[in-house]
Amino acid sequence: MGMSEPPTHLVPEPALWIGGDRVVESSGGRTEHVYAATGRPTTEVVLAGPAEIDQAVALARESLPGWRDSSAEVRRDTLLRLADLLLVHAEPLAALQSLEIGLPVQLARRMPALAADHVRYYAGWCDKIGGEVVPTWPGRSLDYTLDEPYGVVAGIIPWNGSLMSMAQLLGPALAAGNAVVVKPSELAPFVGQRFVELAVEAGVPQGVVVVVPGGPPAGAALAGHPGIDKVHFTGSAATGRQVLAEASRNLTPVALELGGKSPHVIFDDADLRSAARYAMSGVVALSGQGCANGTRLLVHSAVREQVLQTLTSRLRRIRVGDPADETTVMGPVVSRRACERIVGVIDRARLSGARLLTGGGRCGGDLADGFFVEPTVFVDADGDGELVQEEVFGPVLAVSSFDTEEEAVSLANATRYGLGAYLHTNDLRRAHRVSRVVAAGSVWVNGAPGLMPSAPFGGVKQSGSGRIGGVAGLREFLRPKNVWMSV
Ligand code: NAD
Repeated sequence: MGMSEPPTHLVPEPALWIGGDRVVESSGGRTEHVYAATGRPTTEVVLAGPAEIDQAVALARESLPGWRDSSAEVRRDTLLRLADLLLVHAEPLAALQSLEIGLPVQLARRMPALAADHVRYYAGWCDKIGGEVVPTWPGRSLDYTLDEPYGVVAGIIPWNGSLMSMAQLLGPALAAGNAVVVKPSELAPFVGQRFVELAVEAGVPQGVVVVVPGGPPAGAALAGHPGIDKVHFTGSAATGRQVLAEASRNLTPVALELGGKSPHVIFDDADLRSAARYAMSGVVALSGQGCANGTRLLVHSAVREQVLQTLTSRLRRIRVGDPADETTVMGPVVSRRACERIVGVIDRARLSGARLLTGGGRCGGDLADGFFVEPTVFVDADGDGELVQEEVFGPVLAVSSFDTEEEAVSLANATRYGLGAYLHTNDLRRAHRVSRVVAAGSVWVNGAPGLMPSAPFGGVKQSGSGRIGGVAGLREFLRPKNVWMSV
């Protein structure tokens, strides 16, 4: 059975759009987009360079007042229309996302509704943004705060879920009254462009959102641009460090949403079948390329064999393959480079003495031309080694075991990351106790709800400082001004 051809008719003509201006000759040059499932090129992509970033920021600055000063009702209704349009265009958006990174359609089809939920949630905030009256004594003055938008926000987003990234960024940023220059990754340039077309159709004035895909030079130019009032960065910890340095030039505030090495902790009193199923999704969801995937499995020694047996037998049966096939659960990883890097980590883990339970390399046969990596599980890897400490960003799980709750917590906290933590236990007291001491921005007990627009998501330690979702996510795009008046 061969691989389906991707729906290239959905791919936009190679061009950058800066407002109504179509740019085909850019200072960032061009690159080729490659479909991860076949390894074959789909189209050329025009990349923004520093000159186009200048142009984009200038346009956003010019367009800001019209949006910032519009009434809350106008912003609310516009965002509600955008949410509706995401649903109307759900099918082609899902197909485009699938083509962009080889995401299985089964998963891609859930994204437009999730993205619409996020936009709708923040639409609801537009007419609830205010300030507060600050008590003063003995009352001969009035003090109050005004929550104001930053101005022009730079949104630098990764490739691993551009539709959700756009919704999570633009929902709160636009609700708060900011203009936004978004820089998607050169690996995933299409969905962002389509998103902005829908935003304009919904009534967001042209220029309030400018989407300029590009590589690291474009990201650097944007993060360090004097016309940017806040940088909102989602990506790896290594790039986050560079973004901080770039933004420091103008002392621009930065929100960082970075990577993780999230622990999946299974206690001996857990529902083991359900726990093993969730542990499996840490490997296969997004082919292991999710920031919050549970990539370290910590399992109580008493139930270790049982959990590993269920896990490996399920993983061996998982459908890896054609993203366009409705039954495919796991697709390829994003690029040849990512594939080679992941296989390198696997090879080094083997050499370092970790024991391979299943998987262990690239997929062959029909999948040999694409960037497919087998779902891979190692046990007993060196706790200080690369496999346990570094974000692999591929379908690779490292398993360790523990005997006591203290040991479980200490292992869970033994990396520089702190994005998510998954706990499986039927002991309510333990669940609350461990949730308090585990170093993570989010803790999920006995399951995980997926992305909730109303809940704050973000990291501690080197997983970042920003929050996406909920009121905390809105606050990233507002700052209080204090007004004092003598009465
Ligand atoms: P990346 O860090 O390589 O790139 C992220 C973005 O930064 C891209 O748009 C890239 O072009 C840009 N960039 C690269 N160099 C830059 C520079 N010097 N200055 C400014 N921008 C620059 O990450 P990626 O490979 O695109 O995405 C995967 C990473 O993102 C993983 O670490 C993953 O965990 C993380 N991630 C985090 C979250 C979260 O919410 N915490 C969500 C999704 C992904």
